[in-house]
Amino acid sequence: MFCIQCEQTLVNQVATGCQFKRGNCGKDAPTSDLQDILIYLLEGIAQYAHRARQFGASDTTIDRFVAPAFFTTLTNVNFDAGRFVGLIREAALIRDQARGLYLAACERNSMQPEQLNGPATFEPAATREGLLEQAGVATMRPAGEDADVFGLNCLILYGLKGCAAYYDHAMVLGKESDEIYAGLHKYLSYLAERPQDIDGLLATALKVGELNLKVMELLDAGGTGMFGHPEPTAVRTTPIRGKAILVSGHDMVDLLNILQQTEGKGINVYTHGELLPAHAYPKLKAFRHLAGNYGSAWQNQQSEFQAFPGAIVMTSNCLIDPNTRGYGERLFTAGPVGWPGVHHIENRDFSPAIEAALQQPGFDVDHIERTVTVGFARNAVLGVADKVVDAVKSGAIRHFFLIGGCDGAAPGRNYYTEFAESTPANTVMLTIGCGKYRFNDQQHGDIGGIPRLLDVGQCNDAYSAIQIAVALANAFGCGVNDLPLTLIVSWFEQKAAAVLLTLLALGIKNVHLGPTLPAYLSPNLLKVLVEKFELRPLGNPQEDIARALKRAS
Ligand code: SF4
Ligand code: SF4
Repeated sequence: MFCIQCEQTLVNQVATGCQFKRGNCGKDAPTSDLQDILIYLLEGIAQYAHRARQFGASDTTIDRFVAPAFFTTLTNVNFDAGRFVGLIREAALIRDQARGLYLAACERNSMQPEQLNGPATFEPAATREGLLEQAGVATMRPAGEDADVFGLNCLILYGLKGCAAYYDHAMVLGKESDEIYAGLHKYLSYLAERPQDIDGLLATALKVGELNLKVMELLDAGGTGMFGHPEPTAVRTTPIRGKAILVSGHDMVDLLNILQQTEGKGINVYTHGELLPAHAYPKLKAFRHLAGNYGSAWQNQQSEFQAFPGAIVMTSNCLIDPNTRGYGERLFTAGPVGWPGVHHIENRDFSPAIEAALQQPGFDVDHIERTVTVGFARNAVLGVADKVVDAVKSGAIRHFFLIGGCDGAAPGRNYYTEFAESTPANTVMLTIGCGKYRFNDQQHGDIGGIPRLLDVGQCNDAYSAIQIAVALANAFGCGVNDLPLTLIVSWFEQKAAAVLLTLLALGIKNVHLGPTLPAYLSPNLLKVLVEKFELRPLGNPQEDIARALKRAS
């Protein structure tokens, strides 16, 4: 195996990248190798689908396969080697279907088809053992390759993975776009050719960022269209007496189905991790048995799930081994998620999880009520834009910090807690993603009625945060880079890589990135990113705050 896609990848004096029997996330070598073969076949599908589209030919079966399949390969999503063998078989059939589409389009247009190779002609072995022997051809490895070329290929691949995951969330919400399908195929097909040109690679990375912005816009429209615009909402963070189901991940359609299927059954539904912002959506908060949020960010799930006296449903990233603490039998996976031996929910029929919840004891008492407030997405914030603009003009608000992205277990993550604690009282923090759990239970006060901590939503809601920044820039008649705004991006996995590329594509400068920088970026590439985009590695929180305030003054 070789995998370098996330922040917790192996980096020591002998190795860079997880490359032994098991990655630091728990992914074993066979699963990693099978994921590589799946991605290779997705590139093969894209080689044909991209070319067929040039002749106006497309096929929804082919288009709809790529994003959900790609999503399974993100960090902490699917650890089930058996699922990947099945996906590889499906991908090979879809690739052949795409080939047929392309050849027919060439024939209709009296054109000679291109002789494609690599993923376009790869034939997966008939057995799992055979597939594992083939993995070398599919795995991206830096050996013998220019470090900058390797780093940029990774940046594009991981940005595309994040983009595909967000697009899958949008598809679940009923949104589809031919432009997005075309973009995913185009850039995957580009990667299939193992490009070497640095300028071309850099330009393509930014194009992936542009594509991701469109995906995030679609996702925002899907979420607000289906559930309404988030409203500021106090969410209970302590449990109440009764049977319980915990829903983690990002998928609000799964949450809606669980709420509908548990109605009248005496089960309280709790959110976990990135589903906390779901409480702010009118259609979801209307369910009286949506009882609150339990626990915190993904990396604490093993102790939190062990202690939870009910069933648990993991709807998307980020999953950790459920067996070491003995709750695997009452954990259920859905959508792209998988763990060997864990019950996988099909067709959104959550009855096995509901049965399991009824068999568990549930909470025996009401705990003392505590709350956090969520729901400051673009509509809520821009609804008080005049108040915000006046507060900036009067000097009551001196600066905004957007602290967004993923949480993780690394010790450097304390940076975000310290950062939030050290922000001056005349500054406002906006937050997206699960990194917020580092500071969202602290009291930060308000500025003339505007809370100092505004929870914009999931990492999926980065579009909302960007819209807030753009609207503020318009109100002040300046560009986003001229606003008194600093972005602190906490990256962990590939969704964050996609958001980073979007910020760079928008020309947003001076993004602070951490807690460590991606191991796949070579020193040269980092230099380019620092020079061109003023990308800044995180330093000391107090010094970073002081520098940001000085830069804006
Ligand atoms: S996802 Fe991250 S931790 Fe897991 S194998 Fe890949 S780089 Fe390593
Ligand atoms: S923000 Fe990132 S780390 Fe956190 S749950 Fe979502 S995908 Fe995982």
